[in-house]
Amino acid sequence: RPTPKKPPQGGGKIDIAGVKQIIAVSSAKGGVGKSTTAVNLALALQANGLKVGILDADIYGPSIPRLLKITDKPTAVPNSRRMYPLKAYGLMAMSIGLLVDPDTPMVWRGPMAVSALTQMIRDVNWDMEGELDVLVVDMPPGTGDIQLTMAQQVPLSGSVIVSTPQDLALIDARKGIAMFQKVNIPILGIVENMSYFACPTCGSRHDIFGHGGARSTAEEIGVPFLGEIPLHMDIRERSDAGDPVIVSEPESDHTAIYLSIANDM
Ligand code: ADP
Repeated sequence: RPTPKKPPQGGGKIDIAGVKQIIAVSSAKGGVGKSTTAVNLALALQANGLKVGILDADIYGPSIPRLLKITDKPTAVPNSRRMYPLKAYGLMAMSIGLLVDPDTPMVWRGPMAVSALTQMIRDVNWDMEGELDVLVVDMPPGTGDIQLTMAQQVPLSGSVIVSTPQDLALIDARKGIAMFQKVNIPILGIVENMSYFACPTCGSRHDIFGHGGARSTAEEIGVPFLGEIPLHMDIRERSDAGDPVIVSEPESDHTAIYLSIANDM
């Protein structure tokens, strides 16, 4: 694995101790499988030998506690305003969903949301068990002020964009890419989720939402295309059960896909 790229420094960005690089997983719209992809990629980076943390910054629908079956509340570091992360499947994890009433964040205004999110990154002892190679941030969906301000304030090494193959999702993905480019955050690549359906009965592949859109968009914009994740019942069922496929089905085809994407990131 090449030496991690140094995050762009300066520009008034907050200082984050104990983390070598921070990678945002974003999508320009909700429901494309951003959180599911973020969790499986974090576990894949770990399987590839890195020390990894995951931060759920999705204030509109924090789902990391469910996806990683986290039920404990975070504990405070004695005599400080800091918190310890929770540990799930070897990942150091923190979620906005563990800190607030799940019904409240929707009404947060931009500046409040940004300060809560940056605090959550800064005030957690991510290096509780040693320095992290990578902190994966499950970003809120969309390209509004919250996302832009986060991209400006957090020293991100890069961003992975998750999209489905539909035209609409891809138009949104372009907006997401433009947002990160505006603040000079490198795009590590586009992942096409729910890319195709591999029928377990007949064995053939069905391109339910069309095919090839994300790859051609990536080529057009000049960013890497990282891979196609199929729409698969096990991915959904395991996610809902807090039992990610990459852990529960290590030999499956979809696990191999997550591992290969993590390797190329
Ligand atoms: P987002 O974070 O973009 O809102 P989620 O990760 O919560 O999306 O996923 C939305 C729903 O789609 C969840 O029920 C999840 O289990 C399901 N899902 C995501 N990716 C896949 C996939 N590749 N195959 C099957 N179901 C998926």
